Amino acid sequence: MIAEILCVGSELLLGDIADTHTRYLAQRLSALGINLHFSTSVGDNQARIVDCLSRALARSDIVLTTGGLGPTDDDLTRESIAELFGETPIVDEAVAAQLRDFFARRGIEMTDNNLKQASLISSARAIPNERGTAPGWWATRDGRSIIAMPGPPGEMQYMWETQVEPRLISSETVIRSRTLKLFNISESKVDTLLSPLTSASNPTVAVYAKQDGIHIRITAKAVNVVEAVLAMEPIEATVRERLGDWLWGTDDDTQESVVARMLQSRGLAIAISESITAGHVASLLASTTDNRDYFRGATIFPYGGQVRSEKEDCVQAAMHVLERFNADIGLAVCGGVLEGEPDGMNELVVTVVWPTRNVVQTGTYRARAHRVRSLGAYYALDQLRKVLSATT
Ligand code: ATP
Repeated sequence: MIAEILCVGSELLLGDIADTHTRYLAQRLSALGINLHFSTSVGDNQARIVDCLSRALARSDIVLTTGGLGPTDDDLTRESIAELFGETPIVDEAVAAQLRDFFARRGIEMTDNNLKQASLISSARAIPNERGTAPGWWATRDGRSIIAMPGPPGEMQYMWETQVEPRLISSETVIRSRTLKLFNISESKVDTLLSPLTSASNPTVAVYAKQDGIHIRITAKAVNVVEAVLAMEPIEATVRERLGDWLWGTDDDTQESVVARMLQSRGLAIAISESITAGHVASLLASTTDNRDYFRGATIFPYGGQVRSEKEDCVQAAMHVLERFNADIGLAVCGGVLEGEPDGMNELVVTVVWPTRNVVQTGTYRARAHRVRSLGAYYALDQLRKVLSATT
């Protein structure tokens, strides 16, 4: 199934409001395994809305519209669908009664123009709107549908979750997803190593570049949960076999939660020394509500920019902080701008010391100035995870 989104509203094109509907709907569609090929914003102009709807319906199975269902003359989504289908909207008495009831229960006067919201064409049925006055439209032609939802986010999301999504998934189908998370590998390399899995249709394998690395989402559709899980298992095994070296977590895991769990379960406490990452590693690792078991403390040093930290300095920093906070493991993140490199390329030096296991491990990582703090922090956590995984 191919979907397309059309957001209606001049406010979007004037920059008065930011479009959050596309993001929301795109995520929901992707979780359902429905392909989204296009998303468009259009102003409150009937000719242009009809043009967009016509193109969308020619290339997609479902077209999701948001906005333009209000009672005023510049709310034109219904009129545009009717024009495209060559039908005339007429007031539907059952929908009008619901609308009157909605106003009466709130003690608000219903004006004549509200009746426009009770109109329907014969190819459309109304989608109840329990959060507002404008019912949606589910208009179908030749097996393809335009699903028109209201603009206010609370109304649109509620309508999507309670009315639209359940009808898109037939009752015999369940959809399950599994996400595998990697760090320090490029999206293109993941894609190459996974080929041809990424072009399969069920289960689907999608690759996303995220802040904390690359996420691979496997999604299966099946008649029940067991079948869906069984369909995903061999795919997950293949992904693990090909990309296991970069894999740090699954589903809701974060890098910090994975490392915190490892430290906690093994009764280990850590102390951190940071300069170039400006406290981001400590902030991530200390962000759980009760971190007393595994987090002893952190020291953040000023960061001077034009220096390249020697590895020996970083080892000393890790040892220093370990002793100062009486921890089992010391983690230091040093580094600076690489001289002679254009565009402010930084090199991070990350050292993990764990004296009782004779571990002194140092790694380096390069990132540009604007990403060095966040990527550097994830690199440091990844290094720590690797040391913990390798040492039983
Ligand atoms: P109403 O009955 O309230 O007029 P409507 O269906 O006609 O609803 P619009 O008038 O197009 O919807 O939009 C109402 C409000 O919903 C906008 O002012 C804006 O706050 C919000 N909205 C609309 N579209 C979007 C969008 N794509 N992203 C985020 N917010 C939106």
